[in-house]
Amino acid sequence: MSAKHSSCNCIVLASAAVGQVLACPDCGTIHLNLSQVTLRLMPDRFAELSVIVAKAQRLMDEARAQLAVKQAGTPSLH
Ligand SMILES: [Zn+2]
Repeated sequence: MSAKHSSCNCIVLASAAVGQVLACPDCGTIHLNLSQVTLRLMPDRFAELSVIVAKAQRLMDEARAQLAVKQAGTPSLH
């Protein structure tokens, strides 16, 4: 991957407290800006990253839901 320009002129695709997702129209790179870190990814890699992050979140949500069910089913000691 070689940039054809000295610096990217990114447009903001999405923004939240955790960071921003930007895209450079010149080189097509997706920039994932977090507070201390910036990842520069090609769009297909960003898509793959999005899939595994969503999968991990889904698994964590399921685990949290199962834990809540277990805790609700625990008999109280009186
Ligand atoms: Zn660029």
